[in-house]
Amino acid sequence: MRTPKERQYDLLGPRVVEALVRRGNEAVYVTDAAAAREQIHAWLLRDQVRSVGWGGTETMTECGVFDLVREMDLEVIDRDTAESFEKRQDMMRRALAADAFLMSFNALSADGIAINIDGIGNRLSAMIWGPKYVYAIVGMNKVAPDYDSAVLRARQVASPMNAIRLECDTPCATTGRCADCMGDNSICSYFVANRRVRPRGRIKVILVGADLGF
Ligand code: SF4
Repeated sequence: MRTPKERQYDLLGPRVVEALVRRGNEAVYVTDAAAAREQIHAWLLRDQVRSVGWGGTETMTECGVFDLVREMDLEVIDRDTAESFEKRQDMMRRALAADAFLMSFNALSADGIAINIDGIGNRLSAMIWGPKYVYAIVGMNKVAPDYDSAVLRARQVASPMNAIRLECDTPCATTGRCADCMGDNSICSYFVANRRVRPRGRIKVILVGADLGF
């Protein structure tokens, strides 16, 4: 039985998908994490993906996608397996040439604009150009009514929670709120809004009627 919140997600989600498609994304709405995993599996097979990389994404972990790609016959570029800082940087560069890049969004406006913030820029570089395809799984908890509230969500919810998760030496990891820091440890260097996707269909979004990630 779907909860009232999930039923609200089911009512709003398909309209957000229409908005994403209007902006050039391929997009579908599914109700839960298991269905998201099935959908990404189907897309990876359909698109004949042979290599895959990713940036930091709690949502993909929650959906079991990293376990999935390890079970498939794919070349996996996992920077967290690097033995040194230099090898990690190399893997992040290699991920830019992978067939597929996996990520979530920090926020999404109801009219289909994805908002993302990145510390180094590898995640957003890959989203904009490089990998043939980008696959994003996004929980409805990240959908905000409009552009300004999506930016606010990315700054005041997603970034502080990511800083806490990563145990960053930043003000938000101590207070829970953004202090607009400028130190070298800040994870908020680059802000990107996807007004549209070019070429059409390169970014593929699975919008999920559940709370996933931050
Ligand atoms: S305090 Fe710094 S790292 Fe934390 S959310 Fe704000 S700008 Fe980002």
